[in-house]
Amino acid sequence: MNVAVTGATGRMGRTVLAVARERGVEVAFAVNRGADGSHVEGVPVRPAEEFEALLESASPDVVVDFTGPDSAVSYATACASAGVPIVTGTTGFAESDVAALQEAGTRTPVLVGANFSRGVQALLGAVESAVADLPEYDVEVTETHHNGKLDAPSGTAKVVLERIDEARDDAAERVHGREGEAPRRDGEIGVHARRAGDITGEHEVLLAGNHESLELTHRAGSREVFAEGALDAAAWLRSQPGDYYRFETIASQL
Ligand code: NAD
Repeated sequence: MNVAVTGATGRMGRTVLAVARERGVEVAFAVNRGADGSHVEGVPVRPAEEFEALLESASPDVVVDFTGPDSAVSYATACASAGVPIVTGTTGFAESDVAALQEAGTRTPVLVGANFSRGVQALLGAVESAVADLPEYDVEVTETHHNGKLDAPSGTAKVVLERIDEARDDAAERVHGREGEAPRRDGEIGVHARRAGDITGEHEVLLAGNHESLELTHRAGSREVFAEGALDAAAWLRSQPGDYYRFETIASQL
């Protein structure tokens, strides 16, 4: 497999290039906004404006994107025109972005994943099962990330919330932090986003009834788990037909 990497000088882009090197995955090209050709993991990083030309000249099997919502959508659109599959781990998409990614998925395979770690996939299953078993319990979701993270709550927290709604067969009201007189209403879910230091990513789901509580927590120790999952997803995606895929629904096939 040969991949192209966008956002190559970012935290995740660098990690994807490092893991690709470890695995012997070839890198067709790498781009980043404002890049000047300097190298990351031995790969020259080209300016983002060259993406479409490079897509045509280097013909990667799959593009792996960790950038920002606007750029991920424009890369997916360019990939759709060129017929190249794209895996994006970018988070913080607005509804219109998701619609644009789904449209790109009608022309080329597009896979989105808010979290490529295996542990988080297991957390999602555990949350669904605990919420189904404890329907009357209060639920609070807390996520903690490094101080450079842009979007809040995290994409993973949003997927956790979706799973809770699915397990309850109801769309619960979300309360983002609490301040002043803010008593808990029945069924609401408190969502808390903490930003501190260089923490890679933590997600905790608290379920509490009277006289007992249950905490389900995932902690990522390194960005490598995300890069490994993204490259596994890329290897899977390259032989799939054009469609819009979510990592959570295909992870068990990897
Ligand atoms: P970062 O800010 O360190 O890196 C983003 C990089 O993208 C930067 O180098 C930035 O210059 C670059 N960039 C922005 N717009 C660009 C464009 N148009 N073309 C090329 N490069 C562009 O951020 P990060 O920590 O690497 O995270 C990137 C994204 O990945 C975020 O949305 C984050 O939430 C998400 N993320 C997802 C997972 C997952 O498992 N899915 C894991 C970690 C982070």
